[in-house]
Amino acid sequence: SESNGNGVEPSYVKIPQIKFTKLFINGEFVESLSGKTFETIDPRTGEVIAKISEGDKEDIDLAVKAARQAFDHGPWPRLPGSERRKIMLKFADLIDENVEEIAALDAIDGGKLYFFLKIVEIPGAVEFLRYCAGAADKIHGTTLKMSRELQAYTLREPIGVVGHIIPWNSPSHMFAMKVGPALAAGCTMVVKPAEQTPLSALYYAHLAKLAGLPDGVLNVVTGYGRTAGAAISSHMDIDKVSFTGSTEVGRLVMQAAALSNLKPVSLELGGKSPFIVFDDVDVDQISSLALQGTFINKGEICIAGSRVFVQEGIYDKFLIKLVEKAKAWVVGDPFDPSVQQGPQVDKNQYERVLKFIEIGKKEGATLLTGGKLSNRKGYYIEPTIFSDVSDDMTIAKEEIFGPVMSVLKFKTVEEVIKRANATKYGLAAGIMTNDLNIANRVSRSIRSGVIWINCYFAFDNDLPFGGYKMSGFGREMGLESLNMYLQVKSVATPIYNSPW
Ligand code: NAD
Repeated sequence: SESNGNGVEPSYVKIPQIKFTKLFINGEFVESLSGKTFETIDPRTGEVIAKISEGDKEDIDLAVKAARQAFDHGPWPRLPGSERRKIMLKFADLIDENVEEIAALDAIDGGKLYFFLKIVEIPGAVEFLRYCAGAADKIHGTTLKMSRELQAYTLREPIGVVGHIIPWNSPSHMFAMKVGPALAAGCTMVVKPAEQTPLSALYYAHLAKLAGLPDGVLNVVTGYGRTAGAAISSHMDIDKVSFTGSTEVGRLVMQAAALSNLKPVSLELGGKSPFIVFDDVDVDQISSLALQGTFINKGEICIAGSRVFVQEGIYDKFLIKLVEKAKAWVVGDPFDPSVQQGPQVDKNQYERVLKFIEIGKKEGATLLTGGKLSNRKGYYIEPTIFSDVSDDMTIAKEEIFGPVMSVLKFKTVEEVIKRANATKYGLAAGIMTNDLNIANRVSRSIRSGVIWINCYFAFDNDLPFGGYKMSGFGREMGLESLNMYLQVKSVATPIYNSPW
């Protein structure tokens, strides 16, 4: 489904010079103490884009020191919320002004669609920063009249120095989801972007400084998870860790937090979300939605609705539509405006996804379409659909994090509720039906943090997002996200001789 082979790319968009490759600590770009660097790779070709400073434990220590100083003695947590709001709004405006350059960075670094980044994802991240900015001066405690002898109130105070550990699949969106509420709350922070996609976070650090964010409030340390990431989760002077990534690493982060200073942790982890299609739907419309549900962002998305349960009455018809549309899905250079799916983020992920496709075949599922895209270099995989999938197959149980859909047949509402819930994950679920009662009944019965009825990926700044079960805990987005970065302090004082 792609025209130009040989890795020779037509130039749809000018790829920018990479301006920022060093760690951002205390308001300055600095080399890592060791002087080491790592390569960030263009997944369209496998070639090196740039060498990035490799932060390790001692660089995290420096960044935490700066954040600690900025929290304990700096202006940021002490500013009126309205002043924090002004700086955050300025920051958001600067991102808007540079959206094309940042979109190109995420596209070349992560193989993500350039036009989607420019028109949807980064503007969405900016709007969420504005949403958080608007909340900065509306953080209130409550007043409590406790008894005749005592009255009290609560203060909601910033939690302190925050460590944010970010994955590679949506670098800009994740950055805003984590940094926005933490800034609004008055926290200071150290951000560790994923080693696959470090470029945009460094650019954001530069813009935050231009916007007037005081030094030390936002530090970005690029580097690997087992070194820089682990130094965050086990740090004695970080007051909270917010992690998004795999369930396995989430467990390590929580363990490290427990073994160090018992810092609270929030985890946004993996998923294997059900996308449930009942007999009464418009097959054409819902099959398109199902495709989006699994293949958007090349399946590298934690909420992928990759377990597609289809009721038996329309199963065959639905499959035909899915396959027809998957074959027309355009895979190719993420800078090309006609392309719907770019390359997987790196060689590791590419090989991992291909391995799952092999396992699917071996375990007896029917490969209807897809597999490796063989006519070009780079880490491209076609949208892949398996039918005859049973619940106990590996491809129905494990998060693939790639463009692989499993289609499963069901008969009754009770049956599909049970099967949809038979997973260790609980991030999202799609329910496709025109029967209001079925929609409501299934919504209440599915154990997941987000339910989409007759839609999928319906995000809003105001809509809290997070997991049940082993998909993690804590809620990002919405006003709920502020709570992850605030402490509640109770202040009580006696009253003498009160008649009331
Ligand atoms: P990952 O867990 O390997 O890496 C995520 C981040 O953690 C990276 O920055 C990495 O450097 C760091 N890290 C790795 N080892 C670490 C350690 N020992 N200590 C501290 N930090 C460490 O995940 P990934 O492969 O980069 O991302 C894919 C996973 O992320 C998928 O499972 C996906 O479902 C999940 N994800 C979840 C959400 C969500 O919101 N729930 C969103 C996106 C991705």
